Amino acid sequence: MRVLVTGGAGFLGSHLCDALLGEGHHVIALDNLLTGRQDNIAHLASDSRFEFMEADVCGPFDCGSVEYVFHFASPASPVDYMIHGIPTLQVGSIGTFNALEYARRYRAKFFMASTSECYGDPTVHPQKESYWGNVNPIGPRSVYDEAKRFSEAATMAYLRYHKLDTHIVRIFNTYGPKMQINDGRVIPNFMKQALTGEDLTVFGDGTQTRSFCYVSDEIEGIVRLAHSNEHEPTNVGNPNEFTMLQCAEKVLEVTGSKSKIRFEALPQDDPKQRRPDITKARTLLGWEPKIDLPTGLKLSLNYFKAAVAQTATTAK
Ligand code: UDP
Repeated sequence: MRVLVTGGAGFLGSHLCDALLGEGHHVIALDNLLTGRQDNIAHLASDSRFEFMEADVCGPFDCGSVEYVFHFASPASPVDYMIHGIPTLQVGSIGTFNALEYARRYRAKFFMASTSECYGDPTVHPQKESYWGNVNPIGPRSVYDEAKRFSEAATMAYLRYHKLDTHIVRIFNTYGPKMQINDGRVIPNFMKQALTGEDLTVFGDGTQTRSFCYVSDEIEGIVRLAHSNEHEPTNVGNPNEFTMLQCAEKVLEVTGSKSKIRFEALPQDDPKQRRPDITKARTLLGWEPKIDLPTGLKLSLNYFKAAVAQTATTAK
C-alpha cells in the first residue's frame, strides 16, 4: 500500500519509514526539515518504493492517493520545541487538521503520534491511558503538550464525526541511533558529554524519573497498533524507570567515560516522574519491550560515537 509519513525525516519518523518499507509498502516521507534531517533517510535514496517530499504539513501538499497517513511531524525534544514554539503549536493544530483531511480525502487510515507529555507532570503513577494528566496550559512546555492534546482531540473528532479509521499512540521517552546529538534530550546529551569527557549535566537533584524505550521496541509497538482496531490512545513505552542520576551512571558505565556529574538548574515544569502502564499494549497488541537501558545504550554507542566525531569535524 502507499503510505504517507509526515515528519518522515525525523528520528522516529525515519525509523518508521524503514519499518514500513520492510513490510513491503510504498512510503512517502514528508518533512520540512525544521528538525528532521536528510541524513536520516539518505540510505533510502535508491529505493524505488521510497519518495521524499520536502514540504510543510501545515501548508498545501499533494503526494497523490495513499491508504495510510502516519502523522509524526513535530519538534519533539524540549530544547527544539521551546525554540520552535509557534511552529510546534502549528504542526499540532493546522498540521494535524491537514493530515486528517488528507486521510479523509482518500479514506485512508490515520495514525497520530502522541506523547506521554499529555500526562504533564503526572499526579498518578504509573500513567494509565485513562489518566487525564496534569498539564500547565501556559507554561514553557505547553506549546508541545497542548498541541499534542489538541491533536488527540482532533483525531478522536475525525473518528466520531467522519468515521475515519484512526489510531493514537502515546510515545514515552524513546532513544537510539539517528537521534540528533544536539537536540538537548537527556540521552544524546549524556552520551555526547561522556564521549567528549565533559561533565554530565544532571538537571535538578537528578531524582526525577523517566522510563526509556529503545527505538526498535517503540517502532514494533507502533506498527502493531497501526494494524490493530484500537482507536483510543495506547501507551507504548518501556516501564523500566530510572532517576536521571541512575541514567547518568548507566551512560558512564556503557561508555567507560571518566566524566564527572555536574548539577544544573531544573527547567520549569519538568515532570518529576514518568512511567507508562503498558497493560493495554501488552493485552491488546501482545507487545512487550525487549531491550533494557544498558543494552540499548550499547546498541546506540557506535552511532553516538560517529555523531560526536562528525560534529567535531564540522566544527573545525
Ligand atoms: N535532563 C538532564 N540533563 C540534560 C538533559 C535533560 O538531567 O542534559 C533531564 C530533564 O530535566 C528531564 C529528563 O532529563 O528531567 C528528560 O529530559 P528530556 O529532555 O530527554 O525529555 P523529557 O522527558 O523532559 O521530555
